[in-house]
Amino acid sequence: MTAAPATQPAPPLAKPVTTLWGIGAERAAQFSRLGVFTIEDLLLHRPRRYEDRRKFRPIAGLQLAEPATTRGTVVALGTKRFRRGQKAVFELILDDGTARLHCRWWNLPFMEKYFRVGDEVVVFGKPLSLKPRTIDHPETEVVETGEENFIHLNRITPIYPLTEGLPQRWLRSLIWRTLEQFESGIVEPWQGAGQRKQEGWVRPPGADLRAAGGVQPVTLFPTRARAVRMLHFPERLEDAEAARRRLALDECIGLQLQIQLRRRTFEAKARELPCGGDNRLIKPFLAALGFKLTGAQTGVLRAIRADLRGAHPMRRLLQGDVGSGKTVVAACAALMAIESGYDVAFMAPTEILAEQHFRNFRRWFEPLGVRVELITGGHKTVEVRDPKSRAQGRQNNPVPRPAPQTPRLTLGTHALISGGFAAGNLGLVIIDEQHKFGVAQREQLVRKGRYPHLLVMTATPIPRTLGLTIYGELDVSVIDELPPGRGRIKTFLRSADTLPKVWSFVRGKLAEGRQAYVVYPRIEEGGPGGVKAVTKELANLERILAPFRVGLLHGRLKGRQRDETMAAFVANTLQVLLATSLIEVGLDVPNAGILLVENAEQFGLAQLHQLRGRIGRGAQDAYCILVSSATNEGARDRLRTLEETTDGFQIAEADLKLRGPGELLGPEQSGMPNFRFTDLVSDGQLIETAKGCAARLLSDCKT
Ligand code: ADP
Ligand code: MG
Repeated sequence: MTAAPATQPAPPLAKPVTTLWGIGAERAAQFSRLGVFTIEDLLLHRPRRYEDRRKFRPIAGLQLAEPATTRGTVVALGTKRFRRGQKAVFELILDDGTARLHCRWWNLPFMEKYFRVGDEVVVFGKPLSLKPRTIDHPETEVVETGEENFIHLNRITPIYPLTEGLPQRWLRSLIWRTLEQFESGIVEPWQGAGQRKQEGWVRPPGADLRAAGGVQPVTLFPTRARAVRMLHFPERLEDAEAARRRLALDECIGLQLQIQLRRRTFEAKARELPCGGDNRLIKPFLAALGFKLTGAQTGVLRAIRADLRGAHPMRRLLQGDVGSGKTVVAACAALMAIESGYDVAFMAPTEILAEQHFRNFRRWFEPLGVRVELITGGHKTVEVRDPKSRAQGRQNNPVPRPAPQTPRLTLGTHALISGGFAAGNLGLVIIDEQHKFGVAQREQLVRKGRYPHLLVMTATPIPRTLGLTIYGELDVSVIDELPPGRGRIKTFLRSADTLPKVWSFVRGKLAEGRQAYVVYPRIEEGGPGGVKAVTKELANLERILAPFRVGLLHGRLKGRQRDETMAAFVANTLQVLLATSLIEVGLDVPNAGILLVENAEQFGLAQLHQLRGRIGRGAQDAYCILVSSATNEGARDRLRTLEETTDGFQIAEADLKLRGPGELLGPEQSGMPNFRFTDLVSDGQLIETAKGCAARLLSDCKT
């Protein structure tokens, strides 16, 4: 790991830690476990917390369950064994003249060798009893006498993340000495560009412009060298936060520079690729569609057409809440490229979704004489069995046989990347549910052509600042309007003991002719606390819901089985689909108006919102019932967010705050920056500032 790449370390800082005095192979191995390889890494090793060792809490003043730092002299120590030597507790008794403190470690008998009677020890922990005063597994540091004591005591002292064998006190001394030696070698990365306002403080380039959104004027930041010192040895606790912000800013500027440079290089290399089309296919397509595009859809299409005709290939992210109608927009974009004589590739994250798109696009495109193919892991051929649409197609529209050279649309899963898909004359790549893929996969598909246009779509609304870091090099369009005539979705949170009532409600709706999704977290084995698995519950559900028919859908079924189940659900020969969260993306069956999720607390909010997007696609009201027996108030509050709003952006913000970016974006999302100092959740303002700074730096070096 290194710092933000654009931060060109001065050469001495880039040297390995082994060039420091006293660091051999063993220490180097320990450091590598902490991601510390170079001197710069060491200087950026971020304290986990700080202890104010200018004043210690007297032992007599310790409060129950309140973390505190105290110190005392060891008056007794020893290990007690019990249960025939199977369990052991090591106990250390400290006295500071006000009272005694018992420190205990369970089953760590080797602790004994670190302490001796008479040692003075600094202790940090939470007392779990006051009679006698006891702390279990506290953090401790033996005070040694010597000239370096001032590094460890009488100051706000950094406490570092450690690894086995690496002592806190030794590391702190090392960082102190390294800082003394190398501080003057820490250069301001944005040389000359930042304005020095007063000694030790700078205003970053471009930050004099108010950040977009104009929330707060940007303040001064400590110089980088000063920030590194303040990070380790702050004079006030606020200094540590100021230092963190400065170092985070450098990280963000580094990333933004990378993103903006990549975009620039791309624009320099990629040639114009005229794909704007001439309307000859879109016109009949829209006429046959059966509905009018919404204003938002038309607006987005205007932007896409401008991109497709532009001087550089398009790089656009289309965000639109579930059900906002992104597929039709993608279809129009595809037709523009096809009208212009180019092939189009369209990738979706699951086979089920790719197959659904295949059914739709064949229905839409084949009457226009456009070839549509499907490539998935399960379907290597371009033929898919779809009795329903084929029968209809034959009867109503005799399909004109397209000439072999006519441009085609190839749909598929990631098999498009790995399989034998050869892009002939690729003009446009479309990626659906982009958040399910990594950036690397996206680029692999793009590289099948020569700088084709790229449209990526996502229904997981990404809070803006997170988008700036992850999708920074993409232009963003938002569909912020749902098609008219949708029924409302009503969401209810219920506890498991009301399930009988819930089931009778579902049966009532089925009797009215509606269809339902039932979602459980697991496939085969249930989990602790009654977490349900779909294969285990199938028989039970069939019994509860008889005479209605229940189909099963999960990721371990064969492609053929899944197709048949999906087709049966679409045709309403199955009324209920029992599934895992596999169905979270994209499925579109308007008659399905009920979603029942059990063990709802097992899912993220954004994920539940996606699941809920499967219903409410018809004109009638739809019902989302979240069943959870989580007793924990936090979990229930979290789920209540869904009862209160259907706004995907609000839900994503809530999810980001509660579960962090990794959860929100899903495990598939690669390309998450590996930040040491930046907090993607709370540093939004900083990320905006960094974006402006990077743009300024780049334009400065262009002129
Ligand atoms: P998503 O944005 O979640 O991918 P879809 O593209 O699956 O949404 O669209 C959801 C449903 O809305 C589909 O059945 C689609 O045919 C329909 N739809 C899309 N646009 C419109 C519109 N302008 N008017 C009416 N229905 C529409
Ligand atoms: Mg979709």
